[in-house]
Amino acid sequence: MSTEEKLYEGKAKIVYATANPGELRMHFKDDLTAFNGQKHDQMAGKGYYNAQITAILMSYLQSRGVPTHFIRLLGDTDLLVRRLEMVPLEVVARNIAAGSLAKRLGLEEGKVLTQPVFELYYKNDALGDPLVNRSHVRAMGWAKDAVVDEMLTLARQVNTLLQERFAASGLVLVDFKLEFGLSGDQVILGDEITPDTCRLWDASTQEKLDKDRFRRDLGGVMEAYEEVYRRLLNRD
Ligand code: ADP
Ligand code: UDP
Repeated sequence: MSTEEKLYEGKAKIVYATANPGELRMHFKDDLTAFNGQKHDQMAGKGYYNAQITAILMSYLQSRGVPTHFIRLLGDTDLLVRRLEMVPLEVVARNIAAGSLAKRLGLEEGKVLTQPVFELYYKNDALGDPLVNRSHVRAMGWAKDAVVDEMLTLARQVNTLLQERFAASGLVLVDFKLEFGLSGDQVILGDEITPDTCRLWDASTQEKLDKDRFRRDLGGVMEAYEEVYRRLLNRD
């Protein structure tokens, strides 16, 4: 049993130890949360789609030279991943104005940004994951400068690669969030890439195929996640 010790339960996933101290099992739950956990629901199948979508996208990035934590799928809803020492920052990349950027800067949702925008947020639920800049990161000692440099370089590469991958599936990558961790000195992409953490719009109709369907009570949440999975699968 000690090999299956639960190390952490978050809003969307449960992390378990494995027999190998350098590897973790990451279970994707059917829970959906928004607004820092204030809105919560369960959707049968969400864990399945998110695990499968993360596996497809992490394998793709890995094959294009991005170091990721992904090792392999374990059944329907779990991934075997490299254990990382997580950096307490979220990197958000944006190609089109939406969500908090549209609100903060008074931009119309859907405005195409003349160049991608990269932002850092301090990962802290109690504070609602505040937006921070590099001087905050230095002053608080959350990560070394070279590590943040590498995270931003990787985020830029990931943005280009994912935009291409989604475009081939008829999807526009509006924005997304990444988390990184360290294995020794190496900066590695961790966590998930799913419709929970990306805004994805249908390329021809602009229909939202992501967590905004849940945030905004648009209905068809699971159908949208299934559609993203189906389109990615057809391109593999
Ligand atoms: P939250 O903590 O935001 O509620 P989740 O429910 O997604 O998020 O929990 C997953 C947790 O696992 C997150 O804290 C994330 O930073 C962490 N994590 C992701 N990948 C790895 C990894 N490879 N090694 C260690 N921890 C990881
Ligand atoms: N995001 C995320 N986790 C967070 C915050 C944001 O996955 O804790 C994703 C979100 O789904 C979107 C992008 O990052 O794809 C930008 O989110 P934004 O800052 O616009 O916040 P929101 O308005 O979505 O809360």
